[in-house]
Order: sequence, then structure tokens, then C-alpha cells
Amino acid sequence: MAKAPADELACQELVEIVSDYLEAALPDADRERFDAHLEVCEGCRRYLDQMRTTIHVAGTLTEDDLDPGAKDQLLQLFREWNRT
Ligand SMILES: [Zn+2]
Repeated sequence: MAKAPADELACQELVEIVSDYLEAALPDADRERFDAHLEVCEGCRRYLDQMRTTIHVAGTLTEDDLDPGAKDQLLQLFREWNRT
């Protein structure tokens, strides 16, 4: 069974560090891996776009900071994304 190279970022990992990426809080090495992953993974590019939209709408980066209305809006965005 093929195993991903150790330095290849998994989608799950990307999701966990996306807020740091958007805050420019990632170390350079992680940021390079993040960018490299985006180049090969359309799903994560779309996820990043959704995050940027959410930040623009809600003015916040973390789900914990979202008020319930904004969180519903975020979940709605993901549902729409999953349909397309
Ligand atoms: Zn991905």
C-alpha cells in the first residue's frame, strides 16, 4: 500500500492549520508545505476560499469565536460546497 511522503501535508492537517495560514502565523516551512498542497489539491483550495469568505463575512478566524448565526452561515457554506 502506497504511503504519502512524510513531508506531504494531509488535507486534515491543512484544515487544522488554515487559520494560522490566514493569520500568516505559520512557520515558513509549514507555509511552503501548505502552498505546495494547495497546488495539487482542488478541494483544499476551495476550502481556503470558503475560509476567506467566512472571515470576510464574520470578521473572525476561529469557529469558537463565531456567534451562532455566523456558525450557521459557515455550515451552510460547507453544505453548498459539498453539493457542487
Ligand atoms: Zn487537500
